[in-house]
Amino acid sequence: MTHGKTLDEWRQIHPEIRDLTDLRECAWFNPAVAPAAQALSDAGLDAGDVADASARLQRFAPYIRSAFPETADSGGIIESPLLPAAAFRQALERRYGMALPGRLWLKADSHLPISGSIKARGGIYEVLKHAEELALAHGLLHPGDDYAKLDGPEARSLFGRHRVAVGSTGNLGLSIGIMAAKLGFQATVHMSSDARQWKKDKLRAHGVTVAEYDSDYSAAVAQGRAQAAGDPSCHFVDDENSVHLFLGYAVAAERLKVQLAEAGARVDAEHPLFAYLPCGVGGGPGGVAFGLKLAFGDAVHCLFAEPTHSPCMMLGVLTGLHDRISVQDFGIDNRTAADGLAVGRPSGFVGRAMQRLIDGYYTVGDDELFRLLAMLEQAEGLRLEPSALAGAPGIARVLGENQGYRQRMGLDAERLARATHLIWATGGSMVPEAEMDDYLRRGRGLPG
Ligand SMILES: *Cc1c(COP(=O)(O)O)cnc(C)c1O
Repeated sequence: MTHGKTLDEWRQIHPEIRDLTDLRECAWFNPAVAPAAQALSDAGLDAGDVADASARLQRFAPYIRSAFPETADSGGIIESPLLPAAAFRQALERRYGMALPGRLWLKADSHLPISGSIKARGGIYEVLKHAEELALAHGLLHPGDDYAKLDGPEARSLFGRHRVAVGSTGNLGLSIGIMAAKLGFQATVHMSSDARQWKKDKLRAHGVTVAEYDSDYSAAVAQGRAQAAGDPSCHFVDDENSVHLFLGYAVAAERLKVQLAEAGARVDAEHPLFAYLPCGVGGGPGGVAFGLKLAFGDAVHCLFAEPTHSPCMMLGVLTGLHDRISVQDFGIDNRTAADGLAVGRPSGFVGRAMQRLIDGYYTVGDDELFRLLAMLEQAEGLRLEPSALAGAPGIARVLGENQGYRQRMGLDAERLARATHLIWATGGSMVPEAEMDDYLRRGRGLPG
C-alpha cells in the first residue's frame, strides 16, 4: 500500500504509473492545462515580481563584472547563447525515424558563466538578493549606489559574519557556494551521495565547506535545513520552496525573447514555441516556464523532462500528491547518472504553481541521455552533461504523441511546420575533460 492504495489500484486510476514503475520511457500530456490568463495567478507571483528580480540583477551587474572578469563582454549580466541546431535536428530524425518539422534551437545554459549550469540563474540571484538586504540593512549600500563597491574589504567583512547554506546534488551547490564565497560569506554546501567528486573539489578550492552525506538529495536538503535552523546568522537556500530561486530563473524568458527576435524566430499563435526543460526538484524549469508564459502566453508550450529513474514531478502532478509523494513510495529507485535530475520528491510549491501551465511531462532513460550526448557532440560540437540532454527527445515526443494533445491545443500541421522548438541545455561546460570523455565513450558505445 502507498498513500491509501495498492500499486495496482494506482495503475488503474493512472495507467501512466505502470510505465513509470516499469522504468519505461513515457509521456503524459496534462488534460487540465489551462490558458495562461487563468493559470498564471496560481503561483501567487506576477510580472512585477519578475521585473523586480531582473532590475536587481541589473543593479548587481557592475559588481559581477568586477568580481568575475569573464562576464565583462556581457557587462556583468549572466546570460547564455541561443544556438541553432539544424544538424542535431536531422540526427534526431534519423534516431527516431520520423520527420521533425520546424526549427530546432538550443539554449546553452551549459555555457553560463561562473558555474556552467542553469543554477547560475536562480542560485546566484538568491545569494545576491540576500547580500543586498544585508548591505542595505547595515548601511553599506544605499539606493542608487554603484554595487561594484561590494567587491571590497568592507563588504567582505560584513558578509564574513554571516553564513549561507544549501543542500544540493551538485550544480546548485556550485552556484551558491562560488557566489557566496566570492562575496565573503561563510558558505556550506550539503552534498548528496550522487554529487560528482570534481564539484566537491571545485567548491573546496573556492573556500566552501562541503558536508557529504551517504544519502540522496532530499536527505541532504533536510540535513542542511536542520543545521541552519538553529543559526540566525545563516541563510538557508531552500531549493524545494524558494520563491527567490524561482524568480531568478524566470528572468531568463525576457532575455530569450530578445534573442529569438534577433534570430528571426517569430512566436505567436500561428508560430508556436515549444520549450523542453529538464526537471529535478522543479525550481529551474518551473521558474523558466513561468517567465516564458508571462512573455509568450499561450503561444509557448512547456514540457518537463525527467529520468526514468527519477520521475518525481510527473508522479506528483499526475497523482495530485505533489511533495507528499516520492518516487521511492512507488518502488522507483532515484538512481540515475543525470545527477542534476536525481530528485525523488518534487517541489510542492512548483508542482502546485505550474500544474495548469505545463503541457506535458516525459521520461528519458539514462542510456538514451548518453546516446544523445554523443549525437549532439558529433552534430554540433557541443559537450553537455547527461542531465542537459533530457530536453532533446522532446520534439519527437510532441510530434509523435497519440493522446489527442496536439488536437486539443489546436496544433495542426501548418502551425507545427512554423514552430520553434527549444531544447534547454542546462549544464556541462565545466565538466572536466576526462569525465566528459567517459560520457562520450559511453554514448558512442551504446547500440542504436
Ligand atoms: C538542477 C538542474 C536541472 C533541474 O533544475 P531543478 O530546479 O532541480 O528542477 C536541470 N539540469 C541541470 C544540469 C541541473 O543542474
